[in-house]
Amino acid sequence: MADTPDSSLTTLRGVGPALVDKLAKLGVHVVEDLLFLLPLRYEDRTKLVRIGSLVPGLRCLVEGEVLLAETVYRGRRSLLVRVSDGSGQLTLRFFHFSRAQAAQFRPGVRLSCYGEARKGPAGLEMIHPEYRLLRAGADAGVDDALTPIYPATEGVQQGRLRNLTGQALEKMRASPPEELLPASVRDPFGMPPLADAIQYLHRPPPDADVELMLAGKHPCQQRLAFEELLAHSLSLRHLRALAESEQAIALDDDHALVDRFVGDLPFTLTGAQQRVVGEILADLERPHPMMRLIQGDVGSGKTVVAAIACLKAVASGVQAAIMAPTELLAEQHWRSFSDWFRPLGIEPAWLSGSRKAAARREARAAIADGSARVVVGTHALFQEGVEFDTLGLVVIDEQHRFGVHQRMALRDKGLGAGGQPHQLVMTATPIPRTLAMAAYADLDTSIIDELPPGRKPVTTIALPDSRRDEIVERVHSACASGQQAYWVCPLIGESETLDFEAAERSYAMLTEALPDVRVGLVHGRMRPAEKERGMQAFKQGTIQLLVATTVVEVGVDVPNASLMIIENAERMGLSQLHQLRGRVGRGAAQSHCVLMYKPPLGRLAKTRLAVLRESNDGFVVAERDLELRGPGELLGTKQTGLPEYRVADLVRDAELMPKVMRAAQQLERHAPDAVQAILRRWLSGVDRYGKV
Ligand code: ADP
Ligand code: MG
Repeated sequence: MADTPDSSLTTLRGVGPALVDKLAKLGVHVVEDLLFLLPLRYEDRTKLVRIGSLVPGLRCLVEGEVLLAETVYRGRRSLLVRVSDGSGQLTLRFFHFSRAQAAQFRPGVRLSCYGEARKGPAGLEMIHPEYRLLRAGADAGVDDALTPIYPATEGVQQGRLRNLTGQALEKMRASPPEELLPASVRDPFGMPPLADAIQYLHRPPPDADVELMLAGKHPCQQRLAFEELLAHSLSLRHLRALAESEQAIALDDDHALVDRFVGDLPFTLTGAQQRVVGEILADLERPHPMMRLIQGDVGSGKTVVAAIACLKAVASGVQAAIMAPTELLAEQHWRSFSDWFRPLGIEPAWLSGSRKAAARREARAAIADGSARVVVGTHALFQEGVEFDTLGLVVIDEQHRFGVHQRMALRDKGLGAGGQPHQLVMTATPIPRTLAMAAYADLDTSIIDELPPGRKPVTTIALPDSRRDEIVERVHSACASGQQAYWVCPLIGESETLDFEAAERSYAMLTEALPDVRVGLVHGRMRPAEKERGMQAFKQGTIQLLVATTVVEVGVDVPNASLMIIENAERMGLSQLHQLRGRVGRGAAQSHCVLMYKPPLGRLAKTRLAVLRESNDGFVVAERDLELRGPGELLGTKQTGLPEYRVADLVRDAELMPKVMRAAQQLERHAPDAVQAILRRWLSGVDRYGKV
């Protein structure tokens, strides 16, 4: 509220330091925050219900006179208070009560109470209702607004929250918040003014459409969600504008090296790859840092696109770094890049925590003196005091594994003199468009929406683990016919040890059941060199069946593998299963994926498996995953640092995004002051991407 002189919580009646701490847990730091702490649901105490018309399950307000109160000891000590309003009788049941409390309920005393009617041993009852004793002659005093129920935190009662929000609303009415959305933005959507929306949501009138409010679709909620989404968009766009104002080295060589590389590839780039390469090369030629996200389903061929970007950098005289989320993947990239670049006389360096100290030292020296033109590694690339000579391009693979903040940190590793490095992030978790608008508004997006030719969609089935023998037989015949297979073991929980034990058990079972199949094992507890030996053996075909924990999830590429068995698939998320499944279907043979599960399946697990059976399209899977789990899980909120929203819900409010984007542009152009004020209102005190 722009003109509130003092907005600290202690200006409210009844707020001391202890309460301030508790409120902080709810994200409430100043008085205005209370206005944005919206109720989770509402109770209707605006009308009295006659006891005679109560039905089980109804939550409501009743009024009556005490007939009898007694403490009984059947099973559990409880206080029973029988009340009547002339139309019927109701028992109030308390398990926790003081002697003084019990003594209040003298026959003839009148009271009002709110609770849920349930069937009890002797007619309807309410367990621990909220109640109020009524003075003789006074009536129950119904409320004139619905009662808000706020998100709870320990030690702050609903009554207290109601009181505090009431005080905040009072202050708001005395000095209403500035309306920051111009009428030209509000009117087309019929949005109510901010103060009206806030007042309505905290104290809805008795005739409010509660269903609509519970669904989060009430115009007042949408009004607030819109402004919050707008604030986040503006912040990300600001970040992007900052990048645009920064310098980068324009990589403007004459394409010769890139053309030669593309011409020598054993395959032709798909149309989608060519388009995305074009977008990247155009970015790289500009003297401002590229910030581009490539989305491409598993197997769409992102690696070669990254390689082309790196070549462009090398040809222009700067270094390129590519960062992968796991040791395994970093090494695989290093091998691909080495094979691809060797004919061009470029020897990529490889830096990861797992390499021996001497090798790391050597790599670091080559990176620092610039003799390493292309560097492949894990996050060790920016953790270990690595100095680049002239870092001009950073590629981050499988970016949902890295945080937004890591992304920023890498950027800051940029050049001293030349400016920031160009940045390319690649993800195999396709993000629904509306969500991408909200989460990655600081990035330009390219989509590889085409798979290399000849790929046949993977056929997916779900089978209960009682049919394990059949499945093992299927693995047997696949291997006998020259195909290779993955057997993926479940993630048991947080513990790597348990995962490893499960993998060991499956490995033992399979080696015994399939004496004529060459079985290998790869799991997270192996030393990287061992892991790599296993993977290489599988790639070369010396191993036919690879038993693995989910370490194979990301990126490994073995085209001859055409069968994947996933144990305990019911424990895994949709996107993860889709990633895993993407390991097969890379060669010419028809591939299959068997999702093994332990019955009975819960509703959610059933839906997940059905989605995978029905679709091979990463975008469809991601959309469904988003619906089922919410954006935090899909994007890995914890790691990405995707902010928590106070009012908005990225799934529920996704359809607002296109309008939000338009409003953001409009405000930037015509109302820069409003932009600043919106950012302050919604994001001050929040750990946000860019400083305002
Ligand atoms: P992802 O996008 O999942 O990272 P990769 O880059 O690992 O996919 O590519 C998967 C496989 O497809 C690799 O073996 C790669 O060499 C191959 N590939 C990439 N592009 C093409 C193409 N245009 N035609 C044929 N094969 C391709
Ligand atoms: Mg990849």
